[in-house]
Amino acid sequence: MKKYIMTMDEGTTSTRTILIDHDGQIVAQYSKEFEQIFPQPGWVEHDAKEIWEAQKETIKGVLDKAGATLDDIESIGITNQRETTVVWDKTTGEPVYNAIVWQCRRTSDMVDELVTKLDAEGKSDLIPSKTGLKPDAYFSATKINWILDHVDGARDRAKNGELLFGTIDTWLIWNLTGGKVHATDYTNASRTLLFNIHTLEWDDELLELFDIPRAMLPEVKKSCDDYGTYEGIQIAGVAGDQQAAMFGQCCFDKGDVKNTYGTGGFLMMNTGNKPVNSKNGLLTTMAAFTDEPEYALEGSVFVSGAAIQWLRDELKIIDNAPASEEAALSVEDSGGVYVVPAFTGLGAPYWNQDARGMILGLTRGTSRNHIIRATLESLAYQTNDVLGAMIDDLGSAIDDLKVDGGASQNNYLVQFQSDISKIKVVRPKHIESTGIGAAYLAGLHSGFWKDKEELKSHMEIDKEFSPGMSDEEVADKIKGWNKAVECTIRFTE
Ligand code: ADP
Repeated sequence: MKKYIMTMDEGTTSTRTILIDHDGQIVAQYSKEFEQIFPQPGWVEHDAKEIWEAQKETIKGVLDKAGATLDDIESIGITNQRETTVVWDKTTGEPVYNAIVWQCRRTSDMVDELVTKLDAEGKSDLIPSKTGLKPDAYFSATKINWILDHVDGARDRAKNGELLFGTIDTWLIWNLTGGKVHATDYTNASRTLLFNIHTLEWDDELLELFDIPRAMLPEVKKSCDDYGTYEGIQIAGVAGDQQAAMFGQCCFDKGDVKNTYGTGGFLMMNTGNKPVNSKNGLLTTMAAFTDEPEYALEGSVFVSGAAIQWLRDELKIIDNAPASEEAALSVEDSGGVYVVPAFTGLGAPYWNQDARGMILGLTRGTSRNHIIRATLESLAYQTNDVLGAMIDDLGSAIDDLKVDGGASQNNYLVQFQSDISKIKVVRPKHIESTGIGAAYLAGLHSGFWKDKEELKSHMEIDKEFSPGMSDEEVADKIKGWNKAVECTIRFTE
């Protein structure tokens, strides 16, 4: 057996390559940022070729750093920013346009028109019932369409089978295999609005609705599968970032939940072998699985760690993000202050695009530390709202919440989460769950690890947080938060 699994982690702002050893430990990582292209307000693009070049650089970089060679690599795992769309020429490998990034809103009018049309035809449920998603510019389908509409001759070339579509995983696999393999995995396919999560196939009715030729679409495989080879090394694991993080946190069973406190917040719950339709506006999606198909519920918090960046960069009341912990602990409580960081609207379960942030409950005695503490608490309240929606959809209680992402390092935040959600919160030693998850998938397929039980044995816990607040106090605080959110929504009505 060789020494390492190599994960290629394609993020939104950087590309990273990680080496993971047999004990599931990260041995070395190397990353490189790439350009964010903003051709117009609200539009976001990447140069797909730059991503591929950056990838090759980080492969070399990580091997040099670890004093290793490609001979030391057992297999390759890939994880990626989801939904981002690349269309390229099958013969030359040249992208016909820049990659259109998940954040890009250029097709929102297209989506509005489609929704109006479907509503008028009494087919409002067509997209959610097949894909588990809501029609939105965020997903790939309208991005593909935009490229086909705006690049000369692209639609005809696509119909003739001359152009290929892929999310970033697919683009990378194509390049790694020298154009031999055009494939994606179920988790990435389930974010396109074109994939039927019940039949596990590209859906003809949706392809017709979005006017996308089937010939462009990649083959869809399991997250643990054979995706060809790079320099003789098998590409054996592929999953979108959130699903990879869930797998890396060993959320293998129904009811297992993870939350990533990054710039935004991402909750994902394994719902087992059947898709659960959310009554609370959450998305239904595919989980990374090894045997039978597994599904997940997903909910996001638009502003999570970004609220801490705002304290640092705009209010300038902390020097750095970690300093928020000491500031929060320097006061006894939040002094009745609530911060609702609805800077870009409110996500699940409120779904209000127009809401804007608020600070409430100020008194003459309110200090910067109260505001810092209340901002940290807002990350937990927002997470608690989504978690509550998930538990309601699942219809049963859950054991614990696994956390990762930058802000999960903040002990005050995580303890407060445990208190108000009345749940045990578990923080692993390695919070790089995304990269570890993709490595786990590849390593299971190539036989580097035996089974999921072995992976669980690698999970080292850094700290567990148990709820310690009285029921009365929790109820009181949550009541305050609900009122604060209500005021925030009313303000922009
Ligand atoms: P992303 O992958 O979205 O870039 P990360 O997982 O790297 O995000 O997390 C970065 C975010 O976490 C930043 O928004 C930062 O403000 C926040 N953050 C980092 N460390 C802390 C901390 N100790 N306390 C609170 N927030 C933190």
